[in-house]
Amino acid sequence: MAIAVHNPFDIVRRQIREATEQLGLPPAVYEILKQPLRFVEVAIPVQMDDGSLRVFQGFRSQHNDALGPTKGGVRFHPSVTPDEVKALSMWMTVKCALLAIPFGGGKGGIVCNPKELSPRELEALSRGFVSALQQVLGPDKDIPAPDVYTTPQIMAWMMDEFSRARAANAFALVTGKPVELGGSRGRVEATGRGCVAAVAALAERIGLSLEGARVAVQGYGNVGSVAARLLRELGAVLVAASDSQGGVYNPHGLDPLALSRFKEEAGTLASFPGGDRITNEELLACDADILIPAALENQLTEANAGAVKARIVAEAANGPTTPEAEAILYERGALVIPDVLANAGGVTVSYFEWVQNLSGWYWPEEEVERQLARRMAEACEEVFHLQEERRSTIRQAAYMVAVRRLAEAMRLRGWLARTPALWRG
Ligand code: GLU
Repeated sequence: MAIAVHNPFDIVRRQIREATEQLGLPPAVYEILKQPLRFVEVAIPVQMDDGSLRVFQGFRSQHNDALGPTKGGVRFHPSVTPDEVKALSMWMTVKCALLAIPFGGGKGGIVCNPKELSPRELEALSRGFVSALQQVLGPDKDIPAPDVYTTPQIMAWMMDEFSRARAANAFALVTGKPVELGGSRGRVEATGRGCVAAVAALAERIGLSLEGARVAVQGYGNVGSVAARLLRELGAVLVAASDSQGGVYNPHGLDPLALSRFKEEAGTLASFPGGDRITNEELLACDADILIPAALENQLTEANAGAVKARIVAEAANGPTTPEAEAILYERGALVIPDVLANAGGVTVSYFEWVQNLSGWYWPEEEVERQLARRMAEACEEVFHLQEERRSTIRQAAYMVAVRRLAEAMRLRGWLARTPALWRG
């Protein structure tokens, strides 16, 4: 059996089209949402340490700004493609609308292998990206943030480049900055924290106790490691974790902090001495109640979804489950918390960071955590409620909530021509 090849751009278009149909919205809504309103490709020349010149390819997709300036991370990865960046920007639109954050969706990417670049080369590349996109970025236009392999330091360089060009401090240009430079407290932990809030909300709903629940995390980076640590604080047991080099399994439990320290020093956790070595495939199929894919797209496919034993799959990564895999998981009785909900904590605290930068009033960490918890709880409640009412998947319910808000914003702005009121009351 050939496994379907998945272009995330096709997947997200299908997801949005399905939501517009389920909501009975006019076709104009899908016609606007089916592609980014703006997509920019740039060439970024960088002088390398050996004196040679390399020209990197970069992209920025600004999908839809009906609800506010576009917002979303920049990914540095060798496999970045225009369609991937477009899809990720569309997921951002859905995510922000779902969390009722006043942002649209954007995303950027640079085709590069950051592991092979020196800090100086990385700085030149980050600055070059902002300089090439200067006209279309800005605190009230499009606000970048970290994503795969981009860090607070990279955000600091981007902010500095933009500030220099404008001859004015522009902290609110990017989020995910270091705390010393206008970054929000709690931003680094936010995505993992939001994911755990969604897992806890769903676990409560289905009567799964987190006390003793077994957790497997694929992708032990910033998001996965924080989720593992916080779940452990709630009584769960981390039984497996992996990164791009492989994973480790211990049914009696792994110490999340010891794993993080080991990975920090060794560069990978695959050789962690506290458990058995496993592959990424084995991790997905291991004996766990909660599976958290926190790496890249298309990890759970029709080829391996049948082997998943978890009852809850929480998509900390963007797009880790193919539509075929999701159908198999539901048949097996597992529930999937979709990326647009499970990883929305990151952009939520990015929003708080932007608010803090614009107001110049910085919040203590407890305030960030409290506001994040409230927004996650509200979004979960709304989505789970609609899911039950419509007997849909959680993903379909999440898209319906988001697309409904987007459609109403576009109608009020006059983007849908003479479409009459979409909702009564
Ligand atoms: N890259 C993260 C995401 O995919 C965060 C985006 C942001 O904070 O703007 O949600």
